[in-house]
Amino acid sequence: MPRRRPGALRAALPAHRPAPAWARDLGPVDDRLSAGTTAAIHFAEHTSRHVDIAPGVTARMLARYRAFVRAPGGRAALEPSSCPACPGCRYDDIAECRDTLEEVVAVLPPAAAGELRRLLDRLDARFRRRTFPDPLSWSSRWRADPRRWWLRRLYEGGG
Ligand SMILES: [Zn+2]
Repeated sequence: MPRRRPGALRAALPAHRPAPAWARDLGPVDDRLSAGTTAAIHFAEHTSRHVDIAPGVTARMLARYRAFVRAPGGRAALEPSSCPACPGCRYDDIAECRDTLEEVVAVLPPAAAGELRRLLDRLDARFRRRTFPDPLSWSSRWRADPRRWWLRRLYEGGG
């Protein structure tokens, strides 16, 4: 095996590096997340090529998801988005908010991913209690990844 050139060594470094200083100065994402995880989220939002991960998306999705699971009232069917193909209106469907938060978890370094995961676990427990399972879910996206149970809850009209 030929000796590695410096460029090759750099390329071989783990993808997860500490978030740079600028990522520590972009304000809170959620008041329950540590400064290190907050910086990691900002860094991921500004550098990820994932189509759904853009600056500010984690804070917006967390706020929406928490508002839904904490809203007063009993169990409720989910409301589908009237415009599901549109990048903004898509998030009128709360399951889509949860799905994008999962995409964020997937791109974070392990410690930050674990912290966001634990926050989501608590909100997920409330989400399960607030919504109904839908064993007949038609969601092709759920079928593509059965771990994404939030895509398999009951919608208004049974759809
Ligand atoms: Zn729209």
